[in-house]
Amino acid sequence: MSDEGCCTTGTGAARPRAADGPPYAECVLCREPTEYPESYRGITLCPRCEWQEAQRSACSG
Ligand SMILES: [Zn+2]
Repeated sequence: MSDEGCCTTGTGAARPRAADGPPYAECVLCREPTEYPESYRGITLCPRCEWQEAQRSACSG
């Protein structure tokens, strides 16, 4: 039996909302362009700073 809804999107990759193109928002730490659109609400971090933040929080304790 299939249990599919009417809005099945198949096996699409679950990617975060990324900008379709420039302008990109600047990283709040190093001012490098990020993958976020300029209209993104919240803290925008470039991949490198995002990784560093993850490392920092992972090393607490
Ligand atoms: Zn950065």
